[in-house]
Amino acid sequence: MPADASDLSPEIDPTSPEADSAGTLSIDDRIRESVHRILEAGVLPPIVQAGHPVLRQSAAPFTGQLDAPTLSALIDLMRRAMHKAPGVGLAAPQLGIPLRLAVLEDTFDVDPEVAAVRGRQPLEFFAMLNPSYEPLGTERKAFYEGCLSVNGLQAAVLRPESVRLTFTDPDGAVKTREFTGWQARIVQHETDHVNGVLYLDRAELRSLTTNTEYAARWAQPDTTKARQELGFLPGPGDARL
Ligand SMILES: [Zn+2]
Repeated sequence: MPADASDLSPEIDPTSPEADSAGTLSIDDRIRESVHRILEAGVLPPIVQAGHPVLRQSAAPFTGQLDAPTLSALIDLMRRAMHKAPGVGLAAPQLGIPLRLAVLEDTFDVDPEVAAVRGRQPLEFFAMLNPSYEPLGTERKAFYEGCLSVNGLQAAVLRPESVRLTFTDPDGAVKTREFTGWQARIVQHETDHVNGVLYLDRAELRSLTTNTEYAARWAQPDTTKARQELGFLPGPGDARL
């Protein structure tokens, strides 16, 4: 999700089973059908782009719709799609699967100053089912984000600096973990996806920038210059945010 991005054709093939029986399949059948189609395709699927309704729906909770080998294969495929993009998180709706599942991993090399200012620590790979989060404390920070489902754009999002995440892991264990800094940002961004929320819904719209303009002007460790020159979140500094 940060400065890195990539792409699906949102059009449904009218001959596909999904389009044929869209009105009659149950949500669980739709999940199984879409997962099997993706796993059998033999190539990594394109990433669904904003405007596709699957990104705007509250996805279905995982209740065992997929057996363990299928779930494991799906998570592996999602991880490979995330790496290919490249990105630091990917939610199942971004592959057209209306299921509350996301994968996260952030092991990119980052400039040390950028990492320090943004609180960007490496995040080991994990998959989360049925995630939810709650803010910890009142501190909020604004940084630029991008999304693999919103190609070519970035915007600043003011988010809680720390969150408590509750999720089910692929083995069925319910877990609670606390995250801060960039890890907390990734957790929020991906959990928002399974709730039908895109980062743009929470963004400071005056901060909106193309990737090209971002790289040329706004790639500083913090958003002070962008806030002043684009006119969003006026204030003395990130401490207030
Ligand atoms: Zn995203």
